[in-house]
Amino acid sequence: MSEDCLMKTYGRFDVTFDKGLGSKLYDINGTEYIDFVSGVAVNCLGHSHPVIIKAIQDQSNKLIHVSNYYYNTTHTLLAKKLIENSDHESVFFCNSGTEAIEGALKLARKYGKLKGDKSTILYMENSFHGRSMGALSVTGQGKYQEAFSPLIGGVQKIPFNDLKALREAFTTDVCGVIVEPIQGEGGVIPINMDFIKEIRELCTENDALLIYDEVQCGIGRLGSLFAYKQFGVIPDVIALAKGLGGGFPIGAVIANKKASTVLQPGDHGSTFGGNPLACAVSLAVITELVDNKIIDTIDERSSYTFEKLEILKKKYPIIKEIRGMGFLIGVEIDFDTKEFMKKCLEKKLLLISAGPRVIRFLPPLNVTKEELDEALHVFTLVLEEIC
Ligand SMILES: *Cc1c(COP(=O)(O)O)cnc(C)c1O
Repeated sequence: MSEDCLMKTYGRFDVTFDKGLGSKLYDINGTEYIDFVSGVAVNCLGHSHPVIIKAIQDQSNKLIHVSNYYYNTTHTLLAKKLIENSDHESVFFCNSGTEAIEGALKLARKYGKLKGDKSTILYMENSFHGRSMGALSVTGQGKYQEAFSPLIGGVQKIPFNDLKALREAFTTDVCGVIVEPIQGEGGVIPINMDFIKEIRELCTENDALLIYDEVQCGIGRLGSLFAYKQFGVIPDVIALAKGLGGGFPIGAVIANKKASTVLQPGDHGSTFGGNPLACAVSLAVITELVDNKIIDTIDERSSYTFEKLEILKKKYPIIKEIRGMGFLIGVEIDFDTKEFMKKCLEKKLLLISAGPRVIRFLPPLNVTKEELDEALHVFTLVLEEIC
C-alpha cells in the first residue's frame, strides 16, 4: 500500500494494524502480535477492554461534547476521582501530554508573576516533555530542538541528577522546575532520591512550583496511580495524559492548594478539554485500575518480569543494565535498538526503544503472567539469534 499521503513525521515499521484484543494486535492479514508497546504506555488496560467500550457507548448516547462555558457531569466526576486519589486540589483537562505540559508551564509562569516577577523554568538534560514550542523548549535533547530554534526563552537546562548544578541554577528568578520521576524517552532513567528531595526543598524555600511530568510514568505504570507516590516527594503540579484515557485522547494538569487558583477565567483553555466522552472513558479506566484493584497486582507481575530479565542478563552479555519500575522497564543493550526491534517484530513481538541503546517494555497493566512469559520467550529467541 502506498502511504505517501501521510507526512513522514515518523519512522514507521512496515506493518498495518486493524484490530486489537487485550495484549494482542492483529495486522490486516490477521497475523497476531504481542503488543508490549501499548500505544506508548497508553493502552493501560490493553485493547478493546469492555469497560472502555461500554463507557464510549453509554456516554456517546448521552453527550459527546459541550463547551467549557458550562459544567458537565463527567468532568466533575473525573476531577473528583483524581483529587480523591492524590494530595491535590484541582484539575484542568486537555487532550494530550504536550498540552498538559503547556498548561503546567503557563501555570508556573503566572505563579512566578504573582510572586514578584520570577520567570525562569528549570528543566533536565535528556528529558522529554512534548513537541509544541513550549514543551519542546524544556525537552533537553538536541535532536528534537535543533531544527526549530529559536525556542521560548526563560528556560534553563540542568544535568539530570546533578545536585551541584541544581543548586547553582536555582536563583531567586526560578518560578518552576519540571522533571520526569523516571525519564521515559530519555532511556528509562530514574531520578535520584537526594536530587528530587533537594528540588522539593529548593522549590519550597524559594516559592517555586515543582512540576512532575507523569505523562508516561503516571496512571499505574509504576505500580501506583500517581508516580510520585513511589518517591514520597509530592509535587505541586502534575501533568498527565497517555494512560489517563486508556487509548482515548485526554490530558490533565493537577494542582495542589498552592497552585490550584493561579489560573483564572481567560488565562487558559482548550475547546475539547474535559469533554464528556473523554472524561467518561477516563473515569472508567481509573475506576478499573483503582477500585477493581488492577494497580495492586502490578508489583508482583513486575517483580516476576524483572527477575526473568535479570536471569537473561546473566546469560546474554549484550544486556548491560535493566532499569525502571512497575511496567516501565528499560533494558540497555549493546546492540542497535532499531535492528533489535525489527527482529522482535519478525517474531511478532512489539517493543519500543528509548534512544539508541535501550529497549522499553510497556505491557498493558493487566497483562497476564502467561503473556509475560510469551513475550520473554520471543525476547530470548532474539537474544539467542544475536549472541
Ligand atoms: C509522551 C510524552 C509527552 C507528550 O505527550 P503527547 O500526548 O505525545 O503530547 C510528554 N511527556 C512525557 C514524559 C511523555 O512520555
